[in-house]
Amino acid sequence: MAHLRTAAAPTARRCLSRSFAPSPRASFVPSGIRCLSATAPRRSAFAVNDLTQVFHDVAPLRKFRRDLFLNNRTVGLVPTMGALHEGHISLVRKAAEENTDVWVTIYVNPTQFGLNEDLASYPKTWETDMEMLRDLDRGLAREGKGRVSAVFAPSTTTMYPTSPPDSSIPGVGSFIEMRPLGQLLEGASRPVFFRGVATVCMKLFNICTPDSVYFGQKDAQQTVVIKKLVKDFHLNTKVRICDTSREPDGLALSSRNVYLGARRRRTGIVLNQALRKAEAQYKAGKRLRGDILWPAVDHGDRVQHEQENLQPSKRALFQVDYISLADPDTMEEVEKVDETKGAILSGAVKMMPVEEPQEGEELGLGSGQVAVRLIDNIVLQPTR
Ligand code: AMP
Repeated sequence: MAHLRTAAAPTARRCLSRSFAPSPRASFVPSGIRCLSATAPRRSAFAVNDLTQVFHDVAPLRKFRRDLFLNNRTVGLVPTMGALHEGHISLVRKAAEENTDVWVTIYVNPTQFGLNEDLASYPKTWETDMEMLRDLDRGLAREGKGRVSAVFAPSTTTMYPTSPPDSSIPGVGSFIEMRPLGQLLEGASRPVFFRGVATVCMKLFNICTPDSVYFGQKDAQQTVVIKKLVKDFHLNTKVRICDTSREPDGLALSSRNVYLGARRRRTGIVLNQALRKAEAQYKAGKRLRGDILWPAVDHGDRVQHEQENLQPSKRALFQVDYISLADPDTMEEVEKVDETKGAILSGAVKMMPVEEPQEGEELGLGSGQVAVRLIDNIVLQPTR
């Protein structure tokens, strides 16, 4: 049954010299020209193409940041865990529209994974990621937009210099926690998740000192956590949120989708369908929680029963973790939508491992045996 949870519950690089100008177009070194400056980080960075540098250490990145700052350049930061897809790329594009320099971080942060979660199986696709960023950067160069000037891919020793990262509760180490926000919804199912996210983002923001940071609406609660982090700790950066990129049928793009395979991919659309049914209620003028949510819960239940009644060789079982209607600023459940604020409709389902895989069946990475957690959300806009 659908479970409805409530709130209670180096060398080739951009020339770092005085010739820098604020305009992105004017300040780029033409492709192919290598500029060796005294400021170039030589040890911990190497060129992936004429302009993008990969950094693994903090000091050279800070040096680069200082040079950019002194030349009136702006940095838009896009934190990621790699396994890049169009959703990530849309964030980089947005950052490139608004900044001279885009920095992408690629780091799978262990402290946001619980002890029993999928840290080990999280997809790692470094070569493809770099190729995507290179292609994108070439396009940005042609369009005269900001450029991907740095990729920061630190090691865990770099990110957690004084203590081994600890994913237990209460855990040993230096952490940022947000209560109750970090315990709601995703935080209820993944108790260390937002502690890990807030902590790693604080580290990344301190290291990179970005003018703006770019996050996806796909992770709705995360956007609230980041806005709160910036506000509560007086961080000098703007938070920009970008729309969710989706497959044509509505499935939100996610790095974890590669584990779904065809059978679970077909059924996994249930979450988005359920949320759209609830959205339709809001658009039809309903404002009460029960009135908005019942068609979503009903749809989840119906698809679940359909699957349960199929042969194990055909079905894709799933569990609904939550369907939520929450305040957009706090993510606390609401009984009635405040029309001046709107609300966030969100949900999570866990796609269970595929039973009785069939000969020739496309099962995705992990042969269909990795459970896949899908999350999605729809913003209900204020109407007044
Ligand atoms: P991740 O690598 O999953 O930690 O995501 C890095 C950033 O990309 C986060 O800000 C995510 O919200 C964002 N993101 C992930 N998937 C999507 C998507 N489908 N559309 C837009 N942004 C996304």
